[in-house]
Amino acid sequence: MLQGGTAAWAKSGPRTHQVKPGETLSQLSERYGVSIAALKSRNKLSGDTIRIGQLLVIPAWPALDAIRDATGSLRITRGRWRHVVLHHSGIEDGNAKAYDSAHLRRGMGNGLAYHFVIGNGRDSEEGGIEIGPRWLKQLDGGHVRNRAFNEHGIGICLVGNFETRRPSPKQLEALTALVDWLRDDAPLGATPKFTIHRWVDKNHTVCPGKFFPSTRLRLRYA
Ligand SMILES: [Zn+2]
Repeated sequence: MLQGGTAAWAKSGPRTHQVKPGETLSQLSERYGVSIAALKSRNKLSGDTIRIGQLLVIPAWPALDAIRDATGSLRITRGRWRHVVLHHSGIEDGNAKAYDSAHLRRGMGNGLAYHFVIGNGRDSEEGGIEIGPRWLKQLDGGHVRNRAFNEHGIGICLVGNFETRRPSPKQLEALTALVDWLRDDAPLGATPKFTIHRWVDKNHTVCPGKFFPSTRLRLRYA
């Protein structure tokens, strides 16, 4: 297991937030990447009203625990991961294993091109985060054409076709929990910048689709 990682993980548990004047549940939901429903149920709120000075518990995303544990035993080159690159799979079927086989058949020797896959509830749990072998082996991604972004970009794929629908709230919650963690708490020695596939490989792809909230997330991580 991991040496010296425990302290770094400790702060990744449930957080608390003291409500300041003018803050609303929807702002806090946006800020922490947790649904309003999850905030209300965790804090036993019946309505949408919060009081100044009230202490709210911000629930952690449960799928992150396994990722923290797995990442804790990895040897990660400090400062290597400079980007987080978002993708959609473009189809509603599949999960990490299915895409791994597909990428192997396409001749990618290291299989699954992404480091993480977030399920849509069809072939894996909705909002569940699967860890790809490339993350566990700390290999370059194979998710973009741009070589530097494969070498320094963490590839995250949401299962679905976001040219035809939006990602589900659960998928977005999982995504923001994962990206927050990668940027704020993971032992990377850098804060990777947020980007999406089509901003990296320009005029080549629509990925992650027109219904993916790319601009909103860019602002969140600006
Ligand atoms: Zn893509």
